Amino acid sequence: EAKRKQKGFAFYAAGRDNKSISRLGLSSELKEAIEQDQLILDYQPMVDISSGRIFCAEALVRWNHPQYGLVPPEEFIPSAEQTGVIRPLTLWVIDRALAQVSSWSKIGIDLSISINLSVRSLQDRQLPAQVQRLVMLHNADPSRVILEITESAIMSDPLTARRVMRRLSSMGFQLSVDDFGTGYSSLAYLKQLPVDEIKIDKSFVTQMDRDENDAVIVRATIDLAHNLGLKVVAEGVESTDVWDLLEMLGCDTAQGYFIRKPQGPRELADWICSREW
Ligand code: C2E
Ligand code: CA
Ligand code: CA
Ligand code: CA
Repeated sequence: EAKRKQKGFAFYAAGRDNKSISRLGLSSELKEAIEQDQLILDYQPMVDISSGRIFCAEALVRWNHPQYGLVPPEEFIPSAEQTGVIRPLTLWVIDRALAQVSSWSKIGIDLSISINLSVRSLQDRQLPAQVQRLVMLHNADPSRVILEITESAIMSDPLTARRVMRRLSSMGFQLSVDDFGTGYSSLAYLKQLPVDEIKIDKSFVTQMDRDENDAVIVRATIDLAHNLGLKVVAEGVESTDVWDLLEMLGCDTAQGYFIRKPQGPRELADWICSREW
């Protein structure tokens, strides 16, 4: 992980005080960054474990900052949420991701797309209508758009979250609960919400071949989710051993460095083509 950050993100390698930067300068520049096209999306493939098929990609935002280089999302999403810039940011991400799906499709690559919604987006009652507009603009099929919502976002204002989720679900989007296991919700509670899928947090997955407690948690979560009719994604799959365990436990989908790191849309398309031939 440390190595990855050093390699991938100059920001970390430079050893700056990340927190102070994210609280001061960056948030005011973020709006401009959107307008000036400084944000980029990387895409990480999601694999159907039983067939080995890549059927989806998760869009992950980065800020290609003129001064600081590539800034990872955790450095600016929190301040974007505090300042309200998260709304245009989220819409920018959805717009670009849907455009990408449509260009992939033109070269014969058919992928669903998974998009992260922030805490704030889930309390934004105008969001469903704005997302609907983008879907129509790109002529996208909402059933092939997965919206990832963190457990903490749902729990912070359950009533509004439920209302927004119901709207999005009735529009045909698939809803996924991200970082599952790190918050305070229960699967039983989630069953009252229109959720299609849960993503087990990587903190339980990455070491599950070596940590008996993690293995127990992952196994129980998969079983319970399946009994409730939910699909299960494991994120943070970094090794063959973990892949094999997940396959044995009947997990539906895997995502992680073992399969592929997040990368640009061209690179992902090239990799998918070379893999399938
Ligand atoms: P997340 O949604 O939980 O995304 C998974 C993170 O784990 C990504 O980090 C991904 O690069 C990383 N990852 C993938 N495979 C592995 C693996 O095998 N091992 C390990 N250790 N890590 C892996 P990233 O891209 O830095 O994103 C961090 C977080 O920023 C995301 O966590 C998500 O919460 C947030 N984020 C990213 N893009 C967006 C966005 O467009 N909108 C919002 N609201 N949040 C976003
Ligand atoms: Ca996610
Ligand atoms: Ca996650
Ligand atoms: Ca996470």
